Amino acid sequence: MLTTNRRQFLRAGALGITGVLVARGVSAQAPASAGPADPKLIEDLVAANRILADQGVVDGYGHVSVRHPADPQRYLMSRSIAPELVTAADIMEFDLDSVAVDARGRSVYLERFIHGEIYRVRPDVVAVVHNHSPSVIPFGVTTAPLKPLYHMSAFLWPGVPVFEIRNAGGPATDMLVRNPALGQALAKTLGAGPVALMRGHGAVVVGDNLPEAVFRSFYTEVNARLQAQAMSLGGPVNYLDTEEAKKAQASVAGTIARPWELWKRKALAR
Ligand SMILES: [Zn+2]
Repeated sequence: MLTTNRRQFLRAGALGITGVLVARGVSAQAPASAGPADPKLIEDLVAANRILADQGVVDGYGHVSVRHPADPQRYLMSRSIAPELVTAADIMEFDLDSVAVDARGRSVYLERFIHGEIYRVRPDVVAVVHNHSPSVIPFGVTTAPLKPLYHMSAFLWPGVPVFEIRNAGGPATDMLVRNPALGQALAKTLGAGPVALMRGHGAVVVGDNLPEAVFRSFYTEVNARLQAQAMSLGGPVNYLDTEEAKKAQASVAGTIARPWELWKRKALAR
């Protein structure tokens, strides 16, 4: 697999160094580091990877990132590896063009642009999860909107838009958000909301911090499963209305530390 640096080298050969500068619009140098992050944050990022795997939100695929606390123009994410296997040594730093600060030959996730482009346009977002959470997939390929069915998923009240990659990438992409333009289009679909589905692919979930992004990813999956069950019973489904959902979201938001502590302890015990 080609790493970013390897690709840059190959492009430099094809375009000349000036071509690379023009193509990237930035210095040909690797971006500067924002410095080492708090080991506690790295531990939480490792835990987030493993929790999402434990809870069935990610499998061998999917990724989670956190914005660098010392520089909003940087984010932290694992090298390309299954989330369940992530350790602190796998965490890499990226700029918002999703160029690695210090790749050292490590391969990086093809879809890292999801993260960089969302951080660029959402200054409020501190953590991003991309997953192929199975129960949400039907809601990305039908006309049934994903809606908050119970208090734990009340945060879905703003609505869950569906990213149509054909609109941004043409009729025959490989479905992957593999370049900045597709990342920007996905970030635009997400808008100011907490979750966007990706048609025929998965979802992106954001939060004010890692526990919130993990919590939302898990309960988006649970809501999708429960909503499909409720719809299969027939008749209208009685969803939370917006006022109920706003109040429930505020109440539940204060309790996220409880499941996080449980999930993290289990995830790091292995
Ligand atoms: Zn994906």
